Amino acid sequence: MVSQEATAEEEFSESSLRPQYLSQYIGQAKVKQELEIYIKAAKYRSESLDHVLLYGPPGLGKTTMAIVIANEMGVQVKTTSGPAIERPGDLVALLNELEPGDVLFIDEIHRLPRVAEEMLYSAMEDFYVDIMVGQGPTAHPVHFALPPFTLVGATTRAGMLSAPLRDRFGIISHMEYYDTDDLKEIVLRSATIFKTEMMEDGAYEIARRSRGTPRIANRLLKRVRDFAQVQSNGIVNRELADRALLMLQVDHEGLDYVDQKILKTMIELYQGGPVGLSTLAVNISEETETVEDMYEPYLIQKGFIKRTPRGRLATRLAYDHLGYPYIETD
Ligand code: ADP
Repeated sequence: MVSQEATAEEEFSESSLRPQYLSQYIGQAKVKQELEIYIKAAKYRSESLDHVLLYGPPGLGKTTMAIVIANEMGVQVKTTSGPAIERPGDLVALLNELEPGDVLFIDEIHRLPRVAEEMLYSAMEDFYVDIMVGQGPTAHPVHFALPPFTLVGATTRAGMLSAPLRDRFGIISHMEYYDTDDLKEIVLRSATIFKTEMMEDGAYEIARRSRGTPRIANRLLKRVRDFAQVQSNGIVNRELADRALLMLQVDHEGLDYVDQKILKTMIELYQGGPVGLSTLAVNISEETETVEDMYEPYLIQKGFIKRTPRGRLATRLAYDHLGYPYIETD
């Protein structure tokens, strides 16, 4: 199945595929251009970079960008995620390890527990935290100074962040789905790292069917490479990529099994909708958040689903693509 979250095995191989500097980071021209200016200015003033919020669907390169920022600034990066910080003490331990200018990357920052989030306010704004020491009547706050640092937060939707947290980020960047040409570059680059013989048309075919997402492009590349080694001479061209991708249930529009299931459910059970997102999620045994963050944005972008105040509608394009006769709804 082609989910967009990284598996443990993938996280290991992802680190070898990650671009390390802005010049190696393919696509996201607008985000890169802005960050380049802010990084240069911060370095010129010998200051830490302002806090950065990156938002966009999973697998688009937010973690990679945090690492790139640290490398460009010549500092270390410490990585964690919202759900990994269970108590304020977990956050304090991380903050305590920071050297001046370091980057603290918090993935899924919208899932930070409230107390930890509140602690971040003073840490981000004035580089200190107040820690409560002792219990009951003897409890008192201890002021704990921090070195200047850069918080890079990642989230799938900026709207999920509370306003006080969002307002403390000086730089807010939206990561977009990649176009096919940029993804093709990513596939060619990864193929070189994997020592896979890749034809231009093979890379293009994989790119075209990767849902605009580098993580998926790299994942499909690995599976297609296996296919090429076992079923062919190891060289990936368009025809081989097509055969392998169909076997992986990635169709010609790049929709995977879950995408297809979502559209089929809408059409077969709900006459194309409108249907609520949570109802849809229950029907296909996925979490509502997963459908909303991982599947729906791409289906909307490709024009297969429309969002209406009454729920989601399958468009004519979805009917045509899956070969159902289109029924007009009002
Ligand atoms: P996110 O944090 O947004 O979920 P990641 O930064 O973990 O995404 O990226 C997922 C994978 O895609 C990584 O293996 C990374 O190497 C690759 N990748 C992401 N963006 C780029 C890019 N711009 N150029 C090349 N590879 C990229």
